[in-house]
This record gives sequence, structure tokens and C-alpha cells, in this order.
Amino acid sequence: MTALAASAASTLAVQPSLAGMTRAEIADSLRALGLPEREIRMRVAQLWHWIYFRGARDFDEMLNVSKALRARLADAFALRLPEIVEEQVSSDGTRKWLLRLAPVDVQDKGAEIECVYIPESDRGTLCVSSQVGCTLNCSFCHTGTQKLVRNLTTAEIVGQLLVARQRLGDFPGRERPTDGLTPAGEGVRAVSNIVFMGMGEPLYNPDNVMAAVDVMADGDGLSLSKRRITVSTSGVVPQIERLGAECGPALAISLHAVRDDLRNALVPLNKKYPIHALLQACRDYPGASNARRITFEYVMLKGVNDSPAEAKELVRLLKGMPAKINLIPFNPWPGAPYECSDWETIERFSDIVFNAGYASPVRTPRGRDILAACGQLKSETEKLRARARLAAG
Ligand code: SAH
Ligand code: SF4
Repeated sequence: MTALAASAASTLAVQPSLAGMTRAEIADSLRALGLPEREIRMRVAQLWHWIYFRGARDFDEMLNVSKALRARLADAFALRLPEIVEEQVSSDGTRKWLLRLAPVDVQDKGAEIECVYIPESDRGTLCVSSQVGCTLNCSFCHTGTQKLVRNLTTAEIVGQLLVARQRLGDFPGRERPTDGLTPAGEGVRAVSNIVFMGMGEPLYNPDNVMAAVDVMADGDGLSLSKRRITVSTSGVVPQIERLGAECGPALAISLHAVRDDLRNALVPLNKKYPIHALLQACRDYPGASNARRITFEYVMLKGVNDSPAEAKELVRLLKGMPAKINLIPFNPWPGAPYECSDWETIERFSDIVFNAGYASPVRTPRGRDILAACGQLKSETEKLRARARLAAG
């Protein structure tokens, strides 16, 4: 092991994992191991194929790599993924995984995040987290009540997709586990779509999120189309521009209100980036077209943002923009200060938007029974602290 790899291994107390890394990170790791520069490209391509196309879990599977090099790799590195510490399966087939990340230093026990898999007949969607917790405190969101512990690394974001593909048997040539699977429909990849709608604000961790999108979309590996990868943001305007220019996944905006005074209360970030600036960034988002519409998410809060006048104002605000509006029934969580709008109110709102020419699907709540629905994610990392406080009090 080189001095660099050895010092990384000793401070982390674990070997660095190549699974989830970008090409540049894998190349740097191989350089640190002392591989000659002329070999690096070829070795990166080999590792890339085994890790991302074949789903290898052990260096010894990599039969086109010499036995001696496999031993060196296994000595210096791991192919470790986030560990599934709990799997809950909803009555509707939604699965929620509680994942433990590798410790970042000797004091760290390994932060926990949640990741949700939603199978449907024509697709399988994986909802991934980008941070442990969130700093933004939207008043209707459970995750917002959990303090930010830290940003996820690129490898930890990609690792969520790798875990799901392993668990669902979604790598070519690997067997599907048989215990109670709920895959998507026949002939559909188990994970065909990614949404960054788990814990955290992706555009507060833009470098790692964009690098992760690029790994997920790489045609020699995980091969998801960027059109099927959606980054959802509460409205970090300058980073929306960067996301469009440097990466270009599908964009979703958590709008939730049509007036600044109300949006300030629901999504406090609005005080920094108000509605008109946010919508301008959407109009400028490259590639937005009728085939690539921007999604506007709108949580339905009873008596707060759900009137017909607000539906009409929403249509007016979005005029001329290739958009679809996703109405999300509010998912309750313990102690939440809101209720979900009545069904008739949601339908009336949806009709107004639909009649103005916008698709306005109401997002069927999935996995509510296991607190896996939008905004209900919150990991044990915080829950334990709350429990400890209770015990102390
Ligand atoms: N931080 C990003 C992505 C994660 S939240 C964002 O805010 O866009 C994913 C979606 O779930 C967002 O639209 C969010 O506003 C919504 N959401 C949060 N809490 C919710 C709740 N309790 N019920 C329904 N949707 C919720
Ligand atoms: Fe954070 Fe998004 Fe929740 Fe707001 S809605 S607190 S930005 S996770």
C-alpha cells in the first residue's frame, strides 16, 4: 500500500471504497497505489465495467485483471456499499431502506439515510438522498426538522443506486434475490428512474450531486438517461443555472405557493430567491421543451395554499413555460402543523390547472404506512438524539 492509501485507510479505519467513485477518483486511487500512468485509463475502464455494468462485489470476480493486481486492489481498496440496516415493505410494494454510511473518522459511527424504491407497471423509481438531514426547514417537511449532519459524497449518492440494483437483482447476469421482491413490470429495469427527492437539498451539495448524475448516466456503466434523472430543488437559483449548464438532468421545483408572503413561510429559502427569480431560472433552464418539461411540485395544504384562486394564479405564473404540475397530497408526520387538503379540493385545483393545458397529476401517496412518502423521511441519526433527550429529560 502506498503512503497515501495507507494514511487514508488508517484515518478512516476502513479501506476507501471504489464503488460509487467517478472515473477521475478511481484514476487517482490507482495512481496512489503506484500503477504506471500508461495503464490507468485501461484499468479504470475495466473497474468501471465490473463495478457499474456487472455489479461486482469482489475484486476476484474481475477475471480480466491479473490475480496479482486483484490482490493489490483488494489490499488497498474495498467495493463497499452503504449497508442496509433495515428494509420496510409497504402494502403497496414501496420499499424503504435505512442505509448506514461508512464512518468518516474514528469517532463517527456511520450516519444513516433513507432511500425509497417505488415500483410501477411502466417504471421503477428510486428516490435518493443528497444530504443527511436538511438545513432549510420548510415548515411542512419532516426532513427539515432534522438538523443537517453532513453532505453526502458522490460515492454515497451513487451507492444508493448500487444498493438498490443489488437488492433488486437489477444487474445483468446477476440473480434476483427471491425473498418477497416487488420488481417493476415485465421487461422494465427494476430501477429505471431516479428522483433526488429524498433527504436533503441537492443544490446545497451541487458538486457531488452533479458528479453522481454523471456516473449514473454513464453509457458504459449504470446507463440511466439524464431525462430519467430528476433533481428536485426548493429553489437555489444560482445553482439551477449551473445544473443546467454543467449537467442537464430533468428539473423539478418545489413551488408550493404562488405568493411570496406565503412561500416565505412555507419555504424560507424564498426570502433569498423569490418566486419571480426562481421562475426566470426555470425559463432559462437549457433544453426545457414540451418533451422535457419542468415539473412543479405543489403540496396540498388544507386551507393554506389550495384555493381555486391560487390554482388560477399558478397557471398565470407558469404561462408559456413547458411545465407539468405535480400535486402532492400533504403527507402527515408526528407533530406536523398542517393537514392534507380534502379530496374534492385537490380535484378542483387539479381541474383548473388541467383545463389551462397543463398535465396536473396528483401524486398517489406511496408507502405512507412505512413513513416513506414525500417529506416523511428522517433518519435515526436524529431520532436517536431525540430519544436520548427524552431519556435525559
Ligand atoms: N429538498 C428538495 C428535495 C427533497 S423534498 C426539495 O425540497 O425539492 C421532495 C419533495 O417532497 C419536495 O417537493 C418537498 O417539498 C415535498 N415534501 C416535503 N414534505 C412533504 C410532506 N410532508 N408531504 C408532501 N410532500 C412533501
Ligand atoms: Fe429540505 Fe426539501 Fe424538506 Fe425543504 S422540502 S426542508 S428543502 S428536504
